[in-house]
Amino acid sequence: MQTSFQNDCSYEEYHSNKLWRQASLKKCPVHSDGQCRLERHGTYERYAPDGQNKTRIARFICRRDEGTVTISLLPQFFAAQHPGTLQEFEDQVAAAEKLGAGKAAEQFRSSPPNGQRQSDWWLRRRMKRLHRTLAVAKERLIEMFQGCEVTVTAMRRALGKNDLLLYLRRQLHGSLKELGSPDRLCCGRPRPISSE
Ligand SMILES: [Zn+2]
Repeated sequence: MQTSFQNDCSYEEYHSNKLWRQASLKKCPVHSDGQCRLERHGTYERYAPDGQNKTRIARFICRRDEGTVTISLLPQFFAAQHPGTLQEFEDQVAAAEKLGAGKAAEQFRSSPPNGQRQSDWWLRRRMKRLHRTLAVAKERLIEMFQGCEVTVTAMRRALGKNDLLLYLRRQLHGSLKELGSPDRLCCGRPRPISSE
C-alpha cells in the first residue's frame, strides 16, 4: 500500500537531496495493535514529473506472524496509484472545466503530460471522478468551501491558491481513505516500475 511521506518539498528538492533516504515510518498504517515489526525495505523507481527521468520511493515492510505487507512512502506532490503529479491532474481537470473536455484534450494531445492517454473520454472520466472527490472534500471543509460550486475552478478561487489538491491532501490527511481511490490523493497499491 501507499501512504504519504509528510514533507513539504518540491519534486526538485526531493530528487536532488535524495529525500527518500529520510523517509521514516513510526507507526504501521495498516495495523493499529502495535504488534508490527517495521523495517526499511529498499526503494522502487517511479517516473519523475517529466515522464522520462526516474526518481525513487522509499519502501517499508511490516512483518507479522500472519504475513507481510509492504508500504511505500509517496511524497505529497505525487498522485497516488497513477503516474504524474497531483498538480498535473488538477491542471488537466481545470482546463477541461474551462474549455470543455474536447478542446482541453486536443490541447493536451499537442503537448502530452507524462505520456498519458489524451482522449476526450479519458479527460471526462478524470473530471467526473475528481468532482466526486471534491464533493466529499467540500463537506469535510465546509467552512472554507461554503456555497462554493464543486469544481476545481471554484474551489481554487475560494482557496485563493492553484494547488487545491495538495491543500486537500494535507488538510484531510487521516481521513483520505474515505475519499476513495480514484482521486489520486489516497492510499492504495503502488505500481512499481522495478524493484531493487
Ligand atoms: Zn503492520
